This record gives sequence, C-alpha cells and structure tokens, in this order.
Amino acid sequence: MENITVMGVRDLPLIQKGDNIAALVCGKVKFQDGDILCVASTIWSKSKGYTKRLADITPSERAVRLGKLNGEDPRFVQAVLDASTDIIMEHPFILSEMSYGHIGVRAGVDQSNIDDGMVIFLPPDPMKAAAELRDDVKRVSGKDIGTIITDTCGRSFRRGQTGNAIGWSGFPAIRDFRGDTDLFGHVLKITEEAVVDEIAGFSNFVMGESNNGVPAVVFRNCGRWAGHDNLYFTSAEDITKRVLKKEYS
Ligand code: GDP
Ligand code: MN
Ligand code: MN
Repeated sequence: MENITVMGVRDLPLIQKGDNIAALVCGKVKFQDGDILCVASTIWSKSKGYTKRLADITPSERAVRLGKLNGEDPRFVQAVLDASTDIIMEHPFILSEMSYGHIGVRAGVDQSNIDDGMVIFLPPDPMKAAAELRDDVKRVSGKDIGTIITDTCGRSFRRGQTGNAIGWSGFPAIRDFRGDTDLFGHVLKITEEAVVDEIAGFSNFVMGESNNGVPAVVFRNCGRWAGHDNLYFTSAEDITKRVLKKEYS
C-alpha cells in the first residue's frame, strides 16, 4: 500500500443535466484496475438533474417558521425538508437524516457551484449512484475500479468541514480490525476504520470548495481491505442523535 498516487481530474466542463460523468472522466484519465474514483456529489446531481429552481418551490408553514427562526429563505428550507426523512435539529440550522442513513446539515442541499436561484440536492440513492458510476467506467474503459460519491460535511466537536463518502461501490466502507492483534499482542476489540471517509476526506482536499474546478479525484495503489458496509449507526446505536433530537426538535 506504499506510494499511493492521488490525481485531481482537471479540465472537466461545467456539468449539465444529461452529461455522462464516467465518459467525461475517462476522457481525461487512463484508469487501471483497482483505482478508486471519487466524484463530488454536486456534479453527479447536476448531471442527473437533482436540482430545482427556488422560484418553483412553495414553502410550507413549517418551512416559513424555520426560515424565520434560522434567517434563511423559506423556499431553501422547504428544499431541505423535502430531502429529509427525519429532522434531528431545527435550530440554529437544520440537521436531518436522509432515507439512506446519512445525517447532514441542511440535508446537504447546496446553492454553490450552480446558477443563481438554483439548489442542488444530494443524489437520492448515493449507493446506486456509486454503483452506476462504477459500471459506466467499466463499460467505457474496461477497467474494474472502485467509486465514491463525496460531499463536504460539517462535523461535531471540531471546527471545519471535511469530505465524507455518501455512496461507494467496489469495496467495503469499513476496514474491520476487530480480532486483529496489535504490536504487543493485544486483541483489538473496537477498531473499525471508516476507510471510505478517509479517502473521501483527502479527495475533498484535492477538490477544494470554491472555483477550483476539480470535481473528481483518482487514487491509485490503495490496496484492498476486508470489512463491512454498515457505515451508518442504527437509530438505537446513535447516542448523539438521540440526545440532539430530545434537545432541539
Ligand atoms: P460538493 O463538495 O459535492 O458539495 O461540491 P463542491 O461545490 O464543493 O465542489 C467540489 C469541486 O468540484 C470544486 O473544486 C468545484 O470547483 C468543482 N466543481 C463543482 N461543479 C463543477 C462543474 O460543474 N464542473 C467542474 N469542472 N468542476 C466543478
Ligand atoms: Mn455539498
Ligand atoms: Mn465541497
């Protein structure tokens, strides 16, 4: 696993609905088997048309109330509510859960890197998106790669956003160290490493946030790992979620 190579994919166009992300990326990258391709959720969503004009959104009473409470456009708040299956916190910002288990500030709805007056939603099924991207790359390049759909997310306890994996395909999300022995022969009981988030985090560093124009990043030579895909806590397991829900909604 030494000498991992990380390559930002430059010179991609501004993505429009109907664009094929895999074909565009394959035009810039000569893939090898085992590569990992990270794609920003924002361009996947633009290519699939998971966007809306604010002008076309009619806010509900709740959206109007939360818009006032949080100082946000009620139509934007409505978009956030529409994308959410469970509201964990209403104030000072909406923190909510999506159908596939991801919890995010403002449901990951973005107003950046798109025309004024538009919002971008996270893909409604990011696991399916990652699998489709992987299949598409296989079809175009013949190479068997892994894929991650990323988003920049806030986090608890620390200032600053980092990249997270919201969908992945081709490898397990978590590398499970439980049962391994450390250098001193102790058996590890707890350690499960969220590899997809680590890779997504570094890809986010390469992408940047504003006008860098690098929405895809390729990792080579990451090796393989064994583990599982249970990245999201169940509601019973998630202590933070339970406490926040009690306090803030
Ligand atoms: P998010 O983290 O998925 O919400 O996406 P960001 O808005 O932070 O964008 C991630 C990276 O992709 C940044 O480098 C942006 O400049 C770039 N980016 C966003 N949209 C496009 C696009 O349509 N085309 C290109 N070439 N780059 C884009
Ligand atoms: Mn985003
Ligand atoms: Mn970002």
